[in-house]
Amino acid sequence: MKIVCIGRNYGEHAKELGNAIPDEPVVFLKPSSSIVPKSGPIVLPAFSNDIHHEIELVYSMARRGGRTVADRVSIGLDLTARDVQQDLKEKGLPWEKAKAFDGSAYIADAFVAMESFPPGHHIDFMLKKNGHVVQGGHSGQMIFDVASLIAGVERYMTLEPGDLLFTGTPAGVGRIAPGDRLEGYLLGELLFDLLVEPPATGQ
Ligand code: ZN
Repeated sequence: MKIVCIGRNYGEHAKELGNAIPDEPVVFLKPSSSIVPKSGPIVLPAFSNDIHHEIELVYSMARRGGRTVADRVSIGLDLTARDVQQDLKEKGLPWEKAKAFDGSAYIADAFVAMESFPPGHHIDFMLKKNGHVVQGGHSGQMIFDVASLIAGVERYMTLEPGDLLFTGTPAGVGRIAPGDRLEGYLLGELLFDLLVEPPATGQ
């Protein structure tokens, strides 16, 4: 199973980080070692002082009639070391140190079948930090919709059944700190409730 992630897929978020709107999907990967346990906690890495929350719709891949489709959707967190990413961006280097570290990917347990939505339905989601809404959006705001993302990714790499696709974050990203509580909602329903912990000592 691989985790494929998309960057800059919401116009307002691209703007808040000073990035141009892309003309094809921005793609990066997270390894299985990046996954946070289902019940948390989120443990901050020692190498960064600026870990950002990015809540995203996460689609699970399936094969239908020889084609790759998204058959289920949930939400996840693409935790990002923004200080490290900024440095890598300035040097023109790959993003893995900022995006693929241990504990950088959270995927909620509950997935909703795509066939339960009428065609064209917008799937809304939201993140609360310490009880306040910090990010919210819906699938209709994506620059590339999920079918376009699948096609865009598969020009380069095959998506296999069970692979996960993180589809980018809406505006409102921000720093998380020890003691913060992050609650993720899909379609108005609470799917995760996680605490943020400081880096493990002894590293
Ligand atoms: Zn992201």
